[in-house]
Amino acid sequence: MAERSATTVAGTVALIVAAGRGTRFGGERPKQYLTLAGHPVLRYSLAAFAGHPEISAVRAVIHPDDRDSYDEAAQGLDLLDPVPGGASRQDSARLGLESLEAAAPDKVLIHDGARPFVPEALISRVVSTLEQAPGALPALPVTDTLKRGSEGLVGETVPRAGLWRAQTPQGFRYQAILEAHRAVAAAGGADYTDDAAIAEQAGLAVQLVEGAGENLKVTTPEDLEQAARRLAGRPEELRTGFGFDVHRFGPGDRVWLCGVAVPHDASLLGHSDADVGLHALTDALLGALAAGDIGDHFPPSDPRWAGAASDQFLAHAGGLVAARGGRIVNCDVTLICERPKVGPHRAAMVARVAAILGLEPERVSVKATTTEQLGFTGRREGIAAQATATVALPRDL
Ligand code: MG
Repeated sequence: MAERSATTVAGTVALIVAAGRGTRFGGERPKQYLTLAGHPVLRYSLAAFAGHPEISAVRAVIHPDDRDSYDEAAQGLDLLDPVPGGASRQDSARLGLESLEAAAPDKVLIHDGARPFVPEALISRVVSTLEQAPGALPALPVTDTLKRGSEGLVGETVPRAGLWRAQTPQGFRYQAILEAHRAVAAAGGADYTDDAAIAEQAGLAVQLVEGAGENLKVTTPEDLEQAARRLAGRPEELRTGFGFDVHRFGPGDRVWLCGVAVPHDASLLGHSDADVGLHALTDALLGALAAGDIGDHFPPSDPRWAGAASDQFLAHAGGLVAARGGRIVNCDVTLICERPKVGPHRAAMVARVAAILGLEPERVSVKATTTEQLGFTGRREGIAAQATATVALPRDL
């Protein structure tokens, strides 16, 4: 995925704070990079915002030592370049905000990278609340009885009325929270563990928004196990999508088919690399998600996609499946042409598609056929491709 700078962003930006070292977790890898049902925890958080229609851009704040882990977590997702965080969560959030100064978005949502299950509707509630208030905090009322303890003994019972458990994403008007962070940093002293506390210091009104029980923060090994059980135990529904694409031949010496360069006496014309097989498969995955088509996600009018390798289109669609907590069951591509001969390259195509989607090759099929010299493919004017994809999605999303 071509990375983007933040100079063109308007609307609402999501900042995913993921620079922590996970010392409370006790493991060697920071908790946001631990594997949850085949993907790093952070990927779920990134993908939830990257795939949300009301979020215009997503930027992560990371520890520079984690760059390789981050790249793995972010693979195929459309994100701004990550920026390095600071010594504390507060510093990391402020540095993320500072990095958006030139872009000056209207609103910003600040989210913990270790909260992988943020519901789409919760993000929408926070965004819409910012129409009426400069700050919005998702929270759940405290339902357990609270005790103050000392040296293993119960001291007193703390009234829970009016007490809330704060979650993220916390939303703010961008300029207001940036100035609040700067003021608190300039004053030095206390280390704040969330951004609503910074807003409080600045006297910004923060509206309480209904949180979500599933929006848990992965903090302990038990949390990670619970998160894995939640994914494993969800009832699934199967969805099937279909894709079709055509590209015309032009001058050249190779065609890109299913991620493989196949020598030929022509090339395929298109805005990107014109990989007709990957385009059809990308549309099949988007179709299974009812998430529009490849042109919605990668407009041909956008110069970023000129000559682009279509791998990233397919990886993006695969990332959207992961963002919904889903998995790809299988996919099947049929290439329709007289020439070039596909057979000698089929195994390489299967391997390439499987690698892009992170699937076992047994779940990927690539086939080829001709149209008996009939029609435009028969006249060798271009290549057509059809694809289907079956996706298993959690039923409660
Ligand atoms: Mg196409």
